[in-house]
Amino acid sequence: MIIAIDGPAASGKGTLARRLARHLNLPHLDTGLLYRATARALLDQGHDLFDRAAAISAARGLALTDFDEDSLRGRDMAEAASVVAAIPEVRAALVEIQRDFAHRQGGAVLDGRDIGTVICPDARPKIFVTASVEARATRRALELKGRGEKVDYAAVLDDIRKRDARDSGRAAAPLKVAADAIVLDTTKLDVEAAFEAALAIVETCAGGETLAAQRAG
Ligand code: C5P
Repeated sequence: MIIAIDGPAASGKGTLARRLARHLNLPHLDTGLLYRATARALLDQGHDLFDRAAAISAARGLALTDFDEDSLRGRDMAEAASVVAAIPEVRAALVEIQRDFAHRQGGAVLDGRDIGTVICPDARPKIFVTASVEARATRRALELKGRGEKVDYAAVLDDIRKRDARDSGRAAAPLKVAADAIVLDTTKLDVEAAFEAALAIVETCAGGETLAAQRAG
C-alpha cells in the first residue's frame, strides 16, 4: 500500500504521515526534506539560491542519508526549498529517489506536494490535507517557537501565503488536489482527531482493495 499525503505548508500533513506510518508499521518519507536539503547543499557550497545550474547539480548529488533534519526545519530553509522546488530539472532529479522509496515491498507513506499527482499517481489512498491559512500559521509559529526560533506571527503568516502562491502557481508539478484524492480539512481538528480521520480513510481504502482482490480471485 502506497499512501500519498499532499497539502500546503503547515497543514499538518507531516505529523499525520509520521503517525500513520508508525501505526501501520510502514516506512515514511517526508519529501519536503529533499527540497530543503537541495537548498541547504546549494547555499553550503556558496552558491546563490537562484543559481539554476548549481541547484540542479545539488539535487542530482543528493542521497537519502544526507539529511541533518534539525538544520533543515527552520523558516529560512522552507523558503529556500520552495525556490529550488520550482525548477523543473531539480524536481526531475528527485523523482527516482522518491519512487524507489514508494515502491518498496510492503508499501510506504510519502508526504509532499505532488505525491498523488506526479510521483505516485497509482498511490491508494491519496489524502490532501489542508487547513485555513491562519490555522496553519498558528501551528507553524508554535512549532518554530518550540524549536527556539524567535517568532513573529505576522511574518509567519506572510511566509506561508508566499509559499502557497509559489507552490500552487509554479508550472512544474504545482500543488493541487489529485482528482482521486480525499480532502481532509484539519482547521478544526486537533492532532488526534486528524489522525483518526486519516486512519478511517486508509482503512476504508484497504477494505475496498481486499474486496476487489477477493472479487478478482
Ligand atoms: O513540506 P515542506 O514544508 O518541508 O516543503 C518545503 C518546500 O519544498 C515546499 O514549500 C515546496 O516548495 C517544496 N516541496 C515540493 N514538493 C514536495 C515537497 C516539498 O515542491 N513534494
